[in-house]
Amino acid sequence: MRFADLAAAYEQLESTPKRLEMRRILTELVRPLRPPELPYVLFLSQGALRPEYEAVELGVAASLARRAVARATGVPETTVAQRTESNGDLGTTAYDLVAALHRLDAGEPLTVEAVYRTLRDIAGATGAGSQDAKVDRLTDLLARASPLEAKYLVRFVLGTLRVGVREMSLLDALATAFADGSKEARGRIEAAYNLSSDLGLVATALVEGGLPALDAIRLEVGRPIRPMLAEREPTLAAILERMGGSAALEYKYDGLRVQAHLFEDGSVRLFSRRLEEISAQFPELRRALPAAVGRRPAILEGECVPIDPETDEIRPFQEVSRRRGRKHDLDVAQEEVPVCLFAFDLLLLGGEPVLHRPFPERRRLLAEALRPGEKVRLADQRIVRSLEEATEFFELALAEGAEGVVAKSLAEGSGYRAGARGFWWIKYKRDYTAGLSDSIDGVVVGGFHGRGRRAGRFGAYLLAVYDPARDRFETFCKVGSGFDDAALAELPKRLHGRERDARPEGVESGIVPDRWFEPGLVLEVRGAELTLSPVHRAAQGAVRPGAGLALRFPRFTGRIRDDKGPTEATTSKELLSMYQAQVRQATSGPPSAGAT
Ligand code: ATP
Repeated sequence: MRFADLAAAYEQLESTPKRLEMRRILTELVRPLRPPELPYVLFLSQGALRPEYEAVELGVAASLARRAVARATGVPETTVAQRTESNGDLGTTAYDLVAALHRLDAGEPLTVEAVYRTLRDIAGATGAGSQDAKVDRLTDLLARASPLEAKYLVRFVLGTLRVGVREMSLLDALATAFADGSKEARGRIEAAYNLSSDLGLVATALVEGGLPALDAIRLEVGRPIRPMLAEREPTLAAILERMGGSAALEYKYDGLRVQAHLFEDGSVRLFSRRLEEISAQFPELRRALPAAVGRRPAILEGECVPIDPETDEIRPFQEVSRRRGRKHDLDVAQEEVPVCLFAFDLLLLGGEPVLHRPFPERRRLLAEALRPGEKVRLADQRIVRSLEEATEFFELALAEGAEGVVAKSLAEGSGYRAGARGFWWIKYKRDYTAGLSDSIDGVVVGGFHGRGRRAGRFGAYLLAVYDPARDRFETFCKVGSGFDDAALAELPKRLHGRERDARPEGVESGIVPDRWFEPGLVLEVRGAELTLSPVHRAAQGAVRPGAGLALRFPRFTGRIRDDKGPTEATTSKELLSMYQAQVRQATSGPPSAGAT
């Protein structure tokens, strides 16, 4: 495929807000493709070169990309910088500058394959002289590019490809282009993806062997599986009822979810909830795990929590998050913030996948396989058969520093559901404010200038929930409470590069902030209650025509959800069920309307 065709498809995708139309464009884009081009296009369209867990980074800073644009078009770097300053996008600058050259013959047209390979080379260049090598290769590509190709090449390199293609849309396109587009086909493709986290692998199998070939994709050590997630219920009684009268209750540790992959030779790789490799952050876990689990290869999941070395008590989660970016003084971090992994699930043991087995069996295998020590322990669990037992265990969990409990089904069908949120696991957290019992993870889509002590910074942020069915981010609150000075200084840094002058594609809001942000950063908030709102757009129309859901008295908990991407934030549907649960609980009818 010519790269020009891919760029043209991106141009079309960018200009259509309609999901069905996007799906049609994507389907037509992938239909003629075969491996190896097909995986290349799938990865490129997600703004990546390989599956996210491989963390292949291009390592091209904006200054390097500017230099390449300048060199390829023969325009001084200062001019490139100035134009970009005023139009806000180096991709647009590249488009304009290449168009102004009126190139008649740029030589051989660029192909997707050639572009992909060059980008891999750019990513692979490391060490002394690598910066120059990266600029040289990018310059070569740009010198051969049409205006549109240049625009999307530059945006890709900078990580600002705004075509809004998410993996779920790509799965839809694959199901239509290479199977019959039915729900069943889509489900099988998604299941293979949830197991392997590698769209390229799934697409290749599908094209080469049809749907049956997907069954050959297995859980493998070193390749993270998309995590199983929990539903909510408003009371422990409702949980027990849902689970048929009995359940395994476990402490809900408030830490960082870790998926540990143990290879036969004792080496270990650790992945976060969003499947980023975090091995480097926890060297002590990499050392402790092989001693703790003798039967390898193995994959287990647990929550990594800071522990007070003197009292053995669970510490606040924030202490673990401070480890971010402290690659150089990890030794200090290990001493200051020792962590413990509380293992709660087992997916593969002795090379054998066990994820399909019922939860009680997985737990038994985990307990048998694990030699608990200081750094790796088994999650506290109790089988409960009455509300009294459940309440007692919940109170014990809170007293010992957990944030609540996760109830797990004991039923025959309680196999591990990769990538799915369902009632096989139900979480129940402490009720902090006598308000909403659960926190909400909102995506930052806007910022408001602060006043007084906050002058010159953002004083509040506009947050949205995600609607996967429509692929939209819908606002539900403006939050200004709960930010300390450190957070107020940190957030703009985290949002750098996401600023937009206009409302980003896919964001729905009745409020216009001082600055828009491309959805990316996720913050955890709590609030008093959910109300109907004329200006917020979350689950709009679901309760009353025209009205969206809003969070009253929102407050930032201090926790930046680095472990979640924007599409992993709380969904509109979850917000709606939290609203419904709250209405059911209220004795005096539905909560008041009118929050903004
Ligand atoms: P939350 O913000 O409530 O942690 P989440 O969206 O990250 O939610 P959920 O699946 O909704 O994830 O809630 C379960 C989460 O609780 C897991 O992702 C995991 O990080 C954490 N957790 C802590 N202890 C346990 C446990 N014993 N079993 C399962 N998950 C646990």
